[in-house]
Amino acid sequence: MDKRVGIYVHIPFCASKCAYCNFYSLAGAEKLIPQFHSAVLRHIKEYAPQLDGYLIDTVYFGGGTPNHFGAGRLVSVFNALKRHGHVLLDAEVTVEINPGGIAKEELLKLRRAGFNRLSIGVQCSDDKTLKSLGRAHTFADAEETVKDARQAGFENISVDIIYGLPSQDRDSWAETVARVAALKAEHISCYGLNIEEGTQLYMFKDSPFLPDDDAQADMYLFAVETLARFGYRQYEISNFARRGFESKHNMKYWLGDDYIGFGPGAHSYIGRCRYSFIEDIEKYIERVKLGQVVVEYSEEMSDFENAGEYLMLRLRTYHGISEEEYYDIYRLKMDNVLELLRKYEENGWAIQKDGRWRFTPKGFMLSNTLIGEILEAQTKQRTQISKPWQTQSAVEDTQMTLFDNRPLAAGVYSGKRTERIPN
Ligand code: SF4
Repeated sequence: MDKRVGIYVHIPFCASKCAYCNFYSLAGAEKLIPQFHSAVLRHIKEYAPQLDGYLIDTVYFGGGTPNHFGAGRLVSVFNALKRHGHVLLDAEVTVEINPGGIAKEELLKLRRAGFNRLSIGVQCSDDKTLKSLGRAHTFADAEETVKDARQAGFENISVDIIYGLPSQDRDSWAETVARVAALKAEHISCYGLNIEEGTQLYMFKDSPFLPDDDAQADMYLFAVETLARFGYRQYEISNFARRGFESKHNMKYWLGDDYIGFGPGAHSYIGRCRYSFIEDIEKYIERVKLGQVVVEYSEEMSDFENAGEYLMLRLRTYHGISEEEYYDIYRLKMDNVLELLRKYEENGWAIQKDGRWRFTPKGFMLSNTLIGEILEAQTKQRTQISKPWQTQSAVEDTQMTLFDNRPLAAGVYSGKRTERIPN
């Protein structure tokens, strides 16, 4: 058994709803906590046969605010994974928490149970801004939580911060970056505010109080430069880490590795299949209880789609992409993509090193547009080599797009659980 998998558990409860939040999270739903807890435990137990062929090397409790669920319940869910799956002793086990929302004793309880990484939602250092966003903590709470976490034995801490917040300017952003760096976390995630429909902030989306695209770009490049000076290497568009502390779990998403989710709205990618569970906690609880289907969406990825994912996801990271690797895995050429990358290189958006291409920080900033162009170029290339008047070798390449050694979906979706994963 050498197949590795990451586990994600979605805990959707929050003390209150933040103004910018677009995640599936519920405020004021505490009465559902006991039923949800039983449902997740039951769901994991039912999935045990599917987990059997895998070594679990990362576990991630996200949300929501998992600490709002309680340390005791988190430990019991983790213990269920240990009982029903093969969790490696050195697995990276992360839990997202909010500052001020968890006591030192609870942190100790988590650490003793094997949790070894915390992801703390600090967001910014200005208390007035935190309050205006509906965050239920101050920056001093964040400092206290980091101190408690260290005392509880956590040696791997990640901190989330956001740029582009209402009324934020370069100076206040610089202060956030400096004060967060002073927390000496091993990892920092730095996200640009994205105002989505359905959030409380949406009605202010055209407000002059929100930094425009240029101001956001300026803040992003400032963070990349400053965090590098503090010893944080950028390894993904929004993620920075001290050497050796890159998030192993999130790398699975970006490198196209397998992961299995539990909880409402949780996504999974296993073998060649992508699926997600129903994003409704009451229906999730009910269906798990009755042994009914909880999958809301599923798709079997074609080889060509997987090749597109390779380009799209790996270009988010400093690993980048390589022509040789791409051909080895997908038996596809990427001449059109290379042509584009050379153009990006001239503009300072991409660089090539040791046969690999990756974006520069300026390229990361434009990555949505650039990756869109790259996928278009790849599709165009496929159309070209599918033409019968192409050379014989191009025709052979077209015929060899199937994986020779892809993981077998049947190894996962087999036995008595098959009927729970509809096509
Ligand atoms: S704590 Fe996180 S998940 Fe909960 S409402 Fe705020 S941003 Fe959303």
